Amino acid sequence: MTNRKYIVGNWKMNGMQAQLSDIAAIAEIAEQHGEIDVAICPPVTLIAAAATKCPQFAIGAQDCHQSSSGAHTGCVSAEMIREAGALLSILGHSERRADQYETDADVKAKAEAVKAAGLGAIICVGETEEERDDGRAVEVVCGQLEGSFPDEADADWLTIAYEPVWAIGTGRVPETSDVKEMHEAIRNKIGKLMGDGAEKVRILYGGSMNGGNAAELLSVPNVDGGLVGGSSLTADKFGPIIDAAA
Ligand code: PEP
Repeated sequence: MTNRKYIVGNWKMNGMQAQLSDIAAIAEIAEQHGEIDVAICPPVTLIAAAATKCPQFAIGAQDCHQSSSGAHTGCVSAEMIREAGALLSILGHSERRADQYETDADVKAKAEAVKAAGLGAIICVGETEEERDDGRAVEVVCGQLEGSFPDEADADWLTIAYEPVWAIGTGRVPETSDVKEMHEAIRNKIGKLMGDGAEKVRILYGGSMNGGNAAELLSVPNVDGGLVGGSSLTADKFGPIIDAAA
């Protein structure tokens, strides 16, 4: 069985109002490829404007808080991003796990909040270079998955992204055989965690995906799409990745 491909752009802390035209150009390319799913996750400040400008296109957030409201200065809830126009949220990105000390338990709580708000979630997992060099990559990633996995998982709203930390923004990508091994291990782990329906949960690869390597990465078994950082910022870079998935 092959799942419908899913290509998601993570803009991180990049993008001002002037870049809404880039989102519109990407949405136009996505519209030509109805056989796959495409989304852009801009900074939270652009969600409402992007969703208004591109009403047929999926706009997501890069994070949200696990509570629906309360004394959490600077945070936004799943309900808030939904009201702004988001359809999904990335959760547990390695930059948040490192910089904001997010734990697996935090990511699990956020995923459950996102589900309760009726949004999609993309839970990120991935090993550091040291963990890979120590031969612990699969163990670390499966451990993160176990700790972050929501109780009521369902492929309708849940996606997993495997993002080796050492491949993010570095121009380095794992060997195809390592991607294959890891995605198979993630698939098996999802099977143990949720049973029926595990094969339908999409598993994205993320880490220095670009127009030149996307086709090969997307052809690996159990790679159901890509989570793309730097190469998602403009239509000329993101377009070839969308084309490769279609
Ligand atoms: C990311 O941070 O999710 C990512 C995959 O970044 P890049 O494509 O720039 O490596």
